[in-house]
Amino acid sequence: MTFDIERDYVKTGHFRRPSFEGIRSNVPRILDKMHENHIIGTFFLTPEVIANCEDLVAEIKRRHAVGLHSHAYYQPEFKGWNADGDSLACYSPDQKTRMILRDIGTYRHCLGKLRLFRIGRLEPDQTILKVVSEEGCQCDSSYHATNYGLLERLRVALKYDFKEKPVKYHLYGLEPSHLMRDQAVILVHPLTPPGKSDKEVYDENHLMRMIDISSRYCDPKDLTSCINTPQESPNGYD
Ligand SMILES: [Zn+2]
Repeated sequence: MTFDIERDYVKTGHFRRPSFEGIRSNVPRILDKMHENHIIGTFFLTPEVIANCEDLVAEIKRRHAVGLHSHAYYQPEFKGWNADGDSLACYSPDQKTRMILRDIGTYRHCLGKLRLFRIGRLEPDQTILKVVSEEGCQCDSSYHATNYGLLERLRVALKYDFKEKPVKYHLYGLEPSHLMRDQAVILVHPLTPPGKSDKEVYDENHLMRMIDISSRYCDPKDLTSCINTPQESPNGYD
């Protein structure tokens, strides 16, 4: 089970000052529920969450694996932004390289060595993945399974040192029967503020039901179980 922890996108979009009200309210309840069911997950945090929600991040990394989630939200220091600025495709290779090195720097400063990565919007960008691989990241989860065909598998195997764990299901498309299959990577966006229901982003009742069901049928793990370094810390830092 994997979670993208980022700004309240529904509320503020990518242009305005970020709000973190949604994750501050929702994530602690999810953590409690996971703890109650002995479930370990992987949380991909945006650099702005790492910088703005220290207590929440500390709480997450006490029990779960943490990784970096790089988004191209409006970033005034980079000029490639336009009306569709949430996409990394708006930036030049040089800008993207500087952006991802800065994000990795933020992550390292607060959380240690980067071992897990997921790109924003599940739009794998080859410039960024190359830097992520060169920086020693061991596991990437930037692809959706539907876009991870033979060609992409070949590309990842030839170009990068990390293992790819594509996302198989979003929470809103998840059925109990999916949880009985092995190795499914499930994506949850726990950000919609209370009182607003955007089922495609976050459906808390459905999530809690899935956690209950999964604790009965399978053994949800964090993505570091795909990295062959059993003696290292599961939290991804030394
Ligand atoms: Zn995201």
